[in-house]
Amino acid sequence: MGVFGVEEASNITYLGLHSLQHRGQEGAGIVSCSDDKFYQFRARGLVGDVFGADEIGSLHGAMAIGHVRYSTTGENALKNVQPLSATYRYGQVAISHNGNIVNAKELRTQLESEGSIFSSTSDTEVILHLLARSSQKTFVNRLVEALSYLQGAYSLLVMTENKLVAVRDPHGFRPLAWGRLGGGHVLASESCALDLVGATVVREINPGEMLIVDKNGATSISPFGRQDTKSCIFEQIYFARPNTVFSGRSVYESRYQFGRTLAKECAVAADVVIPVPDSGTAAALGYAYESGLPFHQGLIRSHYVGRTFIEPSQSIRDFGVKLKLSPIRSVVEGKRVVVIDDSLVRGTTSRKIVRMLRNAGAKEVHVRIAAPPIIASCFYGIDTPEVSELIAHTMSQDEISTYIGSDTLGYLPVVSMHELLGGRSGFCDACFTGDYPVPVADVAATHQLDLFSANIEPDSSD
Ligand code: AMP
Repeated sequence: MGVFGVEEASNITYLGLHSLQHRGQEGAGIVSCSDDKFYQFRARGLVGDVFGADEIGSLHGAMAIGHVRYSTTGENALKNVQPLSATYRYGQVAISHNGNIVNAKELRTQLESEGSIFSSTSDTEVILHLLARSSQKTFVNRLVEALSYLQGAYSLLVMTENKLVAVRDPHGFRPLAWGRLGGGHVLASESCALDLVGATVVREINPGEMLIVDKNGATSISPFGRQDTKSCIFEQIYFARPNTVFSGRSVYESRYQFGRTLAKECAVAADVVIPVPDSGTAAALGYAYESGLPFHQGLIRSHYVGRTFIEPSQSIRDFGVKLKLSPIRSVVEGKRVVVIDDSLVRGTTSRKIVRMLRNAGAKEVHVRIAAPPIIASCFYGIDTPEVSELIAHTMSQDEISTYIGSDTLGYLPVVSMHELLGGRSGFCDACFTGDYPVPVADVAATHQLDLFSANIEPDSSD
């Protein structure tokens, strides 16, 4: 989340971070800028716990960037909580990164061998080092040069004393939206954050685009050439908030339609449809509508427990499902229940839910997943585990059904998902197909990079 040219920018950023909380619960931070001075506060925990009136009050200025973290690379530690910031020979810079740089390890090894000292284990820090080592004359050119070494997924907000720069990698893996608030600018991973702060959505930052916002207004450049757009399909399935709109498509509507199609593709005789709240709710409503079966809340979610999947250790995750969800006996007792979830990753959640529903008296439990089987890990910013832990990678559908203890199991077919989203092109669906737009093996082979020899045209914006 970033704000430029709006009084109390840190307060607006803080509010926006609240509506992006679902994107990460490990830590939160804001860096603001007033009169060439940076103010920052970062801590582990949820946005509401990290920031109080004192912290926000100390973050002065009309420009700020913020971040909520969940780790896909680097440990869950304060040193990795973003925005990362640094002072280098040209001044100060702060950076918020969403995504995963797949060649960060190679870049880091090379930078370290040439003398760089890292203070975090996050992949994002390589960007700061590449920036600092660039000998380009302007900030924008230094940033272009730094980013030209990166492969993988990055939606970035980069702040200097006088600019806010928003960038999306050439494939546009992760989202980034642009809005206007009064005379200022707001940038956020999802449109729901723009809505919350009362900003008017301008558009999404295009894949490969760099939007430079400074006192002269907003300038768009596309320094990385065109590549096929590969926006993350899993944002539509699970990650984004339902009140977000991506590429003109409401996330809620996508999930509702996934549910309707699921009802047609995997129909089953049943008495009641229940969602796994909250992520399965939109799809369950669609399923209930299409099947004509009654929709009920058969599971109640405690809103005081975080996303269990995000907890790093399996033991906490196992217990977390019970902490989070409780069955409503009167809804499921003696019934044939269809339970809808948005995705099945390790199978931990479904296995526990099926057991919970049976213990609450369900006669039959039919699990329906409003996504195709996840057969491959994500390297672009979604925390999916190693393939060996992905249940659909190691087991057939029947084996999974037996493992989770359901009477039947049904998934949304890959082709239906593509049809509902208007085709396959434009999306990264690697988790469902194993088809990686930036091949990870090739990336590992990218060794000796010719760092800092890029020839970049002079830029007049600074
Ligand atoms: P599992 O128990 O490993 O099968 O995880 C499935 C549950 O985790 C589903 O209820 C999803 O809503 C949720 N989920 C799926 N992917 C993610 C993710 N990347 N981060 C957090 N939660 C997820």
